Order: sequence, then structure tokens, then C-alpha cells
Amino acid sequence: MLFSNFKDTTSLRVTMQQAISTTYKYTSKKENTPTNRGLFHDFRFSLGYDNLQQDGISEAVGSLTVFLHTAGKGASCPYCGHFSHRLHSYYSRHIQDLEVYGHTLELVIKVGKYYCDNVSCPQKIFCEPLSFLARRYGRRSYLVEERIRSISLELTSRKASSLLQLFHITASSSSCLRILQQCGQHNPMHNKSIYVGIDDFAYKKGKDYMSVVVDQMTHMPIALLEDRNGEALDNWLARNPQIQYITRDRGRCFTEAINRIIPGVTQICDRFHLTKNMTDTMIPEIEKMIRQTKQKLKYEYPDRDTASSLILQDIFNMGDVRHREKLKIYRESLNLKMQGMTIEQTAAHLGKKSRYIYKLIHNRRIGAYLNEQQKTALKYVSELATIISAGCITRNILAQK
Ligand SMILES: [Zn+2]
Repeated sequence: MLFSNFKDTTSLRVTMQQAISTTYKYTSKKENTPTNRGLFHDFRFSLGYDNLQQDGISEAVGSLTVFLHTAGKGASCPYCGHFSHRLHSYYSRHIQDLEVYGHTLELVIKVGKYYCDNVSCPQKIFCEPLSFLARRYGRRSYLVEERIRSISLELTSRKASSLLQLFHITASSSSCLRILQQCGQHNPMHNKSIYVGIDDFAYKKGKDYMSVVVDQMTHMPIALLEDRNGEALDNWLARNPQIQYITRDRGRCFTEAINRIIPGVTQICDRFHLTKNMTDTMIPEIEKMIRQTKQKLKYEYPDRDTASSLILQDIFNMGDVRHREKLKIYRESLNLKMQGMTIEQTAAHLGKKSRYIYKLIHNRRIGAYLNEQQKTALKYVSELATIISAGCITRNILAQK
């Protein structure tokens, strides 16, 4: 933090001489713990603020407070510029500054309130501004704001907020966003790009929508507009008649505005929306064709028994080869037994050992040879057969029923 706000060496030297009055030799009251190892028990730091004079310093856990005061030789009224010496009172401004050796640094500055003697000025009493240090009413120094700004530009506001805590800077995610919002208040007036892309984004989801314009050659945003179908968009388009190509999505607001303000421009729809347009148009047409074909064919639906036997056939064909083979032999053996064949005859007919056939059909029900999937499917056979014989054959309709 030492003189980090001074750019060139000349001003640095001058400031160093002037800043001697605000150089502190600080001895920490902390014990020599393994964490601080006594390295910074005694350190010097200098605030580069030559307009301030020191009063004292105090330490709390992890934080330093430096008490300062201004020269007190009067100040200019921020409203009319009139210089005044007439003191009204004092008050303390608390300003957060950059950390010092892992300590949060707070400046408590005693500043004066002055009477404004300009009779035409509406302000009778004003506070001495600290414009070299912080904004009016600001609670953070410019350096702290700059650090918040530079970190927030790289990260999401929540991440930035938690990272800033490591730098001993307290800033909520909302503060990070607010400081960022002060960065670019105005869109650049002169923009020469002839090929731009435009899209909307939610400032507050479901409520406020804004538009962003991107230069398609540099891929950098060139304008943020306050709306997506209003005056700001119209004005921006009117100010940029050099545009020849605009890439946009399917938003009707953009199409209408472009057609109205710069009708000669070539509008390019992005690939995603082209595909979506195509499928949205084609799918109803294809569905219509399928319906026509079905009506012409007059599909012949099987009666209930045929449907039922077809479904059973399919169910018995589920499972792996060995499973299907075993089930097939079981069912055939049972059939032959019903026809009056003995076990030996059945075994000879199927080319198996009689002991195997005996074990297969003796005291066993069919459930013993079915897997779980087949058992579940069997429960719905009669219901499915009824639906199919009534004339519904698509899988969707079956699943619905
Ligand atoms: Zn004034």
C-alpha cells in the first residue's frame, strides 16, 4: 500500500518527503505465536496522504485504526466553490483503506464542518471534502474501490466478495455489483462496426430485460441498452446507420425494431433458432402425413385371443438364450404330457434325458421358469389384448392407458 497510488517517480519523491508526518513505527502487542513468528512485530508503513496529519494508532484483533486530522485551514464549498475559513464543528469520517501486513486498516479522520458565507448558496454548512482519498459520503478509499472493481471484473460477485475477505476488505456481493455498475454508465457514442449481434438478457429475471450489442468482428460488447423493445434500442439503432449485418435470435422485438429503423440491413438468424424454426414447421406437417396414411390403410386389428397369444409369445421370448430354451422345453413337455405321452416318450421326442424332463415338469409351476420382467408383463396381458383389439396400436397410447 506504500505510495501505490502515485504513478511517476517525481511525485513519489515529493510525497515521500511530505508523508513523513504520516509514517508510523508500529509495534504489535501480539505475542510471538507460531503463526506470526514475530516477523512483523515491529513494522513501518506510510500512508501516501500528504494532506493528513497523525493523531494516533490503535490495534484490535486483526485490525488497525489510524486516527488522523486535516490541516483545518478551511475548505471550498462543494456546492458553490466558495472558500471558507469559518469553522462550525468537527466530525469523524471512517474510511476503510487497504490492509497493512494482514491487518484491516481503518482511517478515522477528524474533518471540519464550515459555514458557507456565499449568500446565494443554498448550503449554509458543508463538510470538508476528502476528494484526494475517497468519494463524497464514501466509506472506502479509492484504492479499496479499485481493488474491489478489478477483482469483481474477473469473478462473480459472490466469489469476489469472499476473495476480498482474504484481502481484509469487507464488501458484500451487492457492493461488488454496485461498484461495477459505476464503471460504464454510458455507451460509447461512436461505433464503427458494420457487423453486430444483438441479444437480450435478464437484469431481473422475469421482470426487467435489457439488450447487449456485440461487435461480431472483435466479439466484444459495445453497448448495453436499457430495454429490448423500446426507445433505447430504437435510439441506438438510429445512431448507428453504418450497420450492414445484424445477428439476432427469434425475438420479435428485435425484428420489428430493425425493420422499422434500419430496414436495409441484412438480418442473420443464429443456427439454433434456424433449426428450431425448421423443426417447429416440419413436425406438424409430418404428423399430418402420418395420420393420413393410417386413415387410408385401415389397419386390421387382431381380435382379443389373437392379440393375447401374440403378446404371450413375445413375453416367452424375453430373456437370454438359455432361459428361453429351458422355458421352451418346459412348455413343450407340458403340452406332450397333456396329449398323453409318457416322460420317456417326451424325452425321446425332444432329444433330452428322461431324468431331465422329469425334474423339469415334476411339481413345478410355470412361474419357476419366468424371470421378474416376464412375471410383471404377464399381469397386463389381458388388459393389453383388450386395448389392442379395440384399435389402439401406438406405444404412446398404450403407455397412457
Ligand atoms: Zn456554498
